[in-house]
Amino acid sequence: MKLLEGKNVIITGASRGIGTGIAQVFAENGANVAFTYSSSEAPALALEKELINKGVKSKAYKSNAGSFSDSEALVAKVLEDFGGIDVLINNAGITKDNLLMRMAEDDFDTVIEINLKSVFNMTKAVQRTMLKQRKGSIINMSSVVGVKGNAGQANYAASKAGMIGFTKSIALELGSRNIRCNAIAPGFIETEMTAKLDDKVVQGWRDGIPLKRGGSTEDIANACLFFASDLSAYVTGQVLNVDGGMLT
Ligand code: NAP
Repeated sequence: MKLLEGKNVIITGASRGIGTGIAQVFAENGANVAFTYSSSEAPALALEKELINKGVKSKAYKSNAGSFSDSEALVAKVLEDFGGIDVLINNAGITKDNLLMRMAEDDFDTVIEINLKSVFNMTKAVQRTMLKQRKGSIINMSSVVGVKGNAGQANYAASKAGMIGFTKSIALELGSRNIRCNAIAPGFIETEMTAKLDDKVVQGWRDGIPLKRGGSTEDIANACLFFASDLSAYVTGQVLNVDGGMLT
């Protein structure tokens, strides 16, 4: 029996990077995968096809995680298409890096809206379904930067730290209904998001990692697999650092 056999999962932002990695590992473990993208339609449709070929149900939806109405409409559509939602992974995220001195108000607001408000939008939208079925797992993709801060990323760090407070609060609110909520704090993972960084910054990150390598999307997907499955049935309100030991 596969770990996620027959479970219905929503992943936000799975057209590339970590989200794609999670979708692939989840499908291999028997999950039906509904996922969103914001603009990368071709890779999203290619992923949908790839997952269906693995023998599970899958569908890509264009939906802005930062929009409350989009999130409500998305959840209604997924319920119609899949018949239930067992796991929500709030993964969509962006960066708009700058030192505070040069950070525009819009760069702050947009990052908070897409990275943090999105978690409120999606969690609120799935809550009723999970309450009714008295079961569910919510996984929020925070960051090492939300735990320790980072110069040039005050907006991003604030959004990721906010996700941790949200995670712990929801774990307290929904625990009695058997709905678990945990966060993952990835370190340096090789995706398009980190490909934007210059070589010196990347070397600096690598030097600070005890395992001496950047993480892969599969490293993060495996942590999600733990939180999504019954292997973590007695774990809620936690933040798991998946960072090669960076915060040790
Ligand atoms: P990525 O390669 O830039 O991919 C981001 C994904 O989010 C894409 O699928 C993108 O869709 C989607 N997205 C962006 N804005 C969206 C919106 N408004 N609504 C819905 N989807 C949206 O990023 P990643 O490296 O995989 O990161 C995934 C998550 O992990 C993020 O929350 C990030 O903060 C977190 N994280 C990453 C690292 C790292 O080292 N990479 C470290 C710590 C935490 P489109 O393709 O359509 O734009």
